[in-house]
Amino acid sequence: MTDGRDPRALARAYLEQQKKLGTGEVVIPRNAFPPPDTPDSRPGLSKADTPFITPGASPGSKSEEMPAAPPGIIYDPPAGDLFTKDPIREAPSLAAVATLVKECQKCRLCETRTNTVPGEGAEDARLMVVGEGPGRTEDETGRPFVGQAGELLTKILAAIQLPREQVYICNIVKCRPPENRVPQFDEISSCLPYLWRQIGLVRPKVILAMGGTAAQSLLDAKQALGAMRNKVHRFRGIPVVVTYHPAALLRNPNWKKPTWDDVRFARRLLDA
Ligand code: URA
Ligand code: SF4
Repeated sequence: MTDGRDPRALARAYLEQQKKLGTGEVVIPRNAFPPPDTPDSRPGLSKADTPFITPGASPGSKSEEMPAAPPGIIYDPPAGDLFTKDPIREAPSLAAVATLVKECQKCRLCETRTNTVPGEGAEDARLMVVGEGPGRTEDETGRPFVGQAGELLTKILAAIQLPREQVYICNIVKCRPPENRVPQFDEISSCLPYLWRQIGLVRPKVILAMGGTAAQSLLDAKQALGAMRNKVHRFRGIPVVVTYHPAALLRNPNWKKPTWDDVRFARRLLDA
């Protein structure tokens, strides 16, 4: 700023003045404040909104030790404007997210659900598993991945020495789509803020996206699953590994070996 004053202080003063004058909503362009790779102390920004790991981290950083795989998609969903209160973004805990989900009617899936399935697992999990959406058993119990696909997931996790309880397990949509159909675009976009907040609260070291819907929704991409495997994508800086969905493995055992390779790769990223 020309007079040497802190631009943020000026912006704040301006907004205070506008508020006193009764001006309505003010939207600050996202690039009005420091770029995301500088330490971010923007007013109103919660810790969870800031990038956790800088993509392409500098030499000497931990990511140098990560196993080699080509970089993939980088996605940083919009954090929302600074002055609109959003209960999901501000949910202080996973339990608070679950409470919001329980009451949620943001999409039509609320009409046919028995229970919501927000997710479960360790608050401080280093691995977060993201599936597509609850099936019948999940809808009946309110717990993710407890049916046949869930049993297989538990075995897959055991194969990389991760007891299920140490992982955070959830889905893209938190309510069961009727007849297990693929969730529709508007249902996914209504539900994604819950997942974003869960990721912000858990802050896992690695995310494992299981199946095309999980990978595409999480990374805001349209690529086929096969094209997304064997890369290290990043969601707000967190490495994302993409693999087959356990339910697909039950139908197609040929995918077991590649899935094993993918989860072992996720394990190596965790250990790096
Ligand atoms: N399939 C999923 O994607 N999620 C579940 O929770 C169960 C089955
Ligand atoms: Fe709300 Fe998600 Fe359930 Fe839709 S699927 S009603 S957005 S919790």
